[in-house]
Amino acid sequence: MGYKLSFETVNSLFNELRKEYKIYAPKRFPKAGRYSDTDIIRYAEIKNVEEIVFDEKSDYPAKDVVSPITQTLFYFTEDEYREAKVHDKKVLIFARPCDINAQMNQDKIFLENGFEDTFYKRMRDKVNYVMMECSSSEDTCFCCSMGTNKTDNYGLAARFEDGQVLISVKDEKFAPYFEGKEEAEYTVKFIEENQTKVTIPTIPNKEVLNKLKEHEMWNEFNKRCISCGSCTIACSTCTCFTTTDIAYNENGSVGERRRTAASCQVAGFDEMAGGHDFRKTTAARYRYKTLHKIHDYNEKFGEGHMCVGCGRCTERCPEFISFSATIEKVNKAVKEICGGECNA
Ligand code: SF4
Ligand code: SF4
Repeated sequence: MGYKLSFETVNSLFNELRKEYKIYAPKRFPKAGRYSDTDIIRYAEIKNVEEIVFDEKSDYPAKDVVSPITQTLFYFTEDEYREAKVHDKKVLIFARPCDINAQMNQDKIFLENGFEDTFYKRMRDKVNYVMMECSSSEDTCFCCSMGTNKTDNYGLAARFEDGQVLISVKDEKFAPYFEGKEEAEYTVKFIEENQTKVTIPTIPNKEVLNKLKEHEMWNEFNKRCISCGSCTIACSTCTCFTTTDIAYNENGSVGERRRTAASCQVAGFDEMAGGHDFRKTTAARYRYKTLHKIHDYNEKFGEGHMCVGCGRCTERCPEFISFSATIEKVNKAVKEICGGECNA
């Protein structure tokens, strides 16, 4: 069943929904971009449909609603602590198929990786998705190559068209909100082809993997990558974080513990007690990220790849390093190592 709603009707629907849900969507923040006079589009709570940026990809991913770039975990004094509270409403997120699939990958890391992250889970359990159809594919997107251009993990689907919104109700719990609304034919569509295509190489065994890790292709990134970490902070699927204690005053025993997104691309990320560092060069760190996205995650969980092909890393990189081009370079290197003997 589909419905065709004017923006005015959507806004009164939002008023009803907001009694039970907080609604999040990609929103434009004028002049808040990284260069002069540029905007930034990131996820934030919204009240009106006019606030939703539906015709451009957001600079930062939908995951920021569930696992924000920084969040307080608990407050402490000398002899006790209290967990940070979370609001008691459910959450409705307008997200594209790649972002919804990215959240499924995050679930594996935070919930199915030998322990359950309670701070992630308490937000994740609240989430319902409004799948936002992509009207076109942007030039850095390669979701079709990654198999993340489609999803059925949503309660509602929305298409923005001619100043109106077509909505499909998939989850019956939302049906009462649409009683009496104008019905319309609406079949959900997904992007079927991107301008950018990649082939994920098949790395057949540890021997090939070890040779790939030593391949000269990585040296290029010692010169090009400046280890800024922008790519991982914008990534739809990166999950690493660090924790910091913030003391409120000169009494260092009173304060709060926060976790903040960390980047494997930044020097010192791997440093351990005693000063040992697993990945000392920029190239080693870039190789680590790349293989995690297109090989290691798959090897650990046995299905899919961590990278969903959103292309945000490419767009955020100040050195114009393209992740899809990197994947193609890995593909070529694997073919070279295998000498045509493996299906790269
Ligand atoms: S590695 Fe790049 S393309 Fe892949 S999910 Fe992360 S930001 Fe998107
Ligand atoms: S954004 Fe570009 S320069 Fe910065 S760490 Fe990532 S790949 Fe390197």
